[in-house]
Amino acid sequence: MKEKLGVVFDPVFLLHNPGPTHPESPKRLVAVQEAIKGLDLAITGIPARVASRDELCLVHTPGYVDHILSMKIDGIVQLDPDTAISEHSPEAARKAVGGVIEAVDRVMQGELKKVFCAVRPPGHHAEPDRAMGFCIFNNIAIGAAHALSSWNLERVAIIDWDLHHGNGTQDAFYDSDEVLYISLHQYPFFPGTGTATEQGEGKGLGFNINLPMVPGSSDEDFRTAFQEIIIPALTNYEPELVLISAGFDAHRDDPLGDLYLTTEYFGEMTSILNEIANVSAKGRVISVFEGGYNLQALKDCVAVHLKELVK
Ligand SMILES: [Zn+2]
Repeated sequence: MKEKLGVVFDPVFLLHNPGPTHPESPKRLVAVQEAIKGLDLAITGIPARVASRDELCLVHTPGYVDHILSMKIDGIVQLDPDTAISEHSPEAARKAVGGVIEAVDRVMQGELKKVFCAVRPPGHHAEPDRAMGFCIFNNIAIGAAHALSSWNLERVAIIDWDLHHGNGTQDAFYDSDEVLYISLHQYPFFPGTGTATEQGEGKGLGFNINLPMVPGSSDEDFRTAFQEIIIPALTNYEPELVLISAGFDAHRDDPLGDLYLTTEYFGEMTSILNEIANVSAKGRVISVFEGGYNLQALKDCVAVHLKELVK
């Protein structure tokens, strides 16, 4: 029997507006919603709650959190050359984090095993003390930190298959063995980090795995990385919860990058992570939306990903 799918959503995610020509458009989330509506799946809607200041501070500095939460925004304001925000962006960013936290709670309570967080803005570039790369708060990193602190987990795996390296997530857990961070990404490319030699430090040494992919890499290159490195590392780690930084910009039709994954390959990666979760994590997988900028490819990839997630 198929698993029920939990979907985190809030209308405020559509009101975060970085500007009419910005690639991180609300239309992306409309495409995701269309993909979900087109699936013949039992869906449990999960309202995104507002993350508390303390929850935001699990990963971010109090100074940065207070700066964002106290902003009075008129029009469109640039936080950095790539990251722009509008009136409702702080609320959207706060609820994106709260939505992932709510997903962690529902999954840990045993209500659901599979949840997709259809959130914006994305999160994996956000650093402890600054916004970066379209991201304000690091949704997935705070979700992982919440799972460790509130549910007493000791091993959370984050697999980040977004086109870009998740520098913010890497930094959040660089000295920790309680989060195994694994990223496949185009390299060299934005944000500039993500070499194979960045492996963690102190207790975290060996718990940060980067798989830089040269431009032109395709399904077969990713498959080799999964078979030779990712599956053995995850099997050995025995994660109690599997989180996915689910960007779809490594798709062959995406305008931002030069990786060439097929739509079907997003299903293959999902299936592998489900199997890992079945062995050590009671099947618990939470997927958090990150990038993906070709609307048709995004819609198709999300459909394949979610169908496989609940298989
Ligand atoms: Zn990306």
